[in-house]
Amino acid sequence: MFWDFVLNAFFPPVCPVCSTRVEVQGSLCPDCFARLEFVSDNSKEHASAVVYNETSRQLILALKYGDRLDLAPLLARLMYNAGSGVFEKADVITCVPLHWKRILARKYNQAAVLAAELSKLSGVCSDPNILKRIRSTPKQGSRRERFENVRGAFVLNPDITIQGKTVVLIDDVVTTGATANSCAGVLIRGGAKEVRLLTFARA
Ligand SMILES: [Zn+2]
Repeated sequence: MFWDFVLNAFFPPVCPVCSTRVEVQGSLCPDCFARLEFVSDNSKEHASAVVYNETSRQLILALKYGDRLDLAPLLARLMYNAGSGVFEKADVITCVPLHWKRILARKYNQAAVLAAELSKLSGVCSDPNILKRIRSTPKQGSRRERFENVRGAFVLNPDITIQGKTVVLIDDVVTTGATANSCAGVLIRGGAKEVRLLTFARA
């Protein structure tokens, strides 16, 4: 309690988007929260919390590169509210993996952090090591180029069996769907019964 007080006095919590002071660490100010556009037409197989706009982009950048891991519970809660149905009878949660070189540079995989938070909320276990990224892939390019870039970029971890399992795949944002599609293909070919996708934002 005392240290919370001291930390707040010297490093007051700020909104990750506009840097105004907020009451609670890891929260958005009311103005920025109001700029989130919630997705209302989610299916049970593919759910996203919000539309990819300037506010959600800033949130993802803060989590990804800004060392704002304190935002993970908020983002996970919004994802869970939007897509709690994807966890129904699910066996395991996993995430889109980063290439090991990116892990070294960033220290953590933001999708794995979200997956761990969603495991706490849903009670479904999380295993971030089911898929491996064997190639670093550029995010730029046309839709067609993106689909070609990610082909063969992911493999199944041979030490883990997903035979007959319903897998929930987590990522921060889905744009073309190329990455998620490639991961889902690897999981299905590896014996998964069903793959469902839950992301924070969708373009
Ligand atoms: Zn704000």
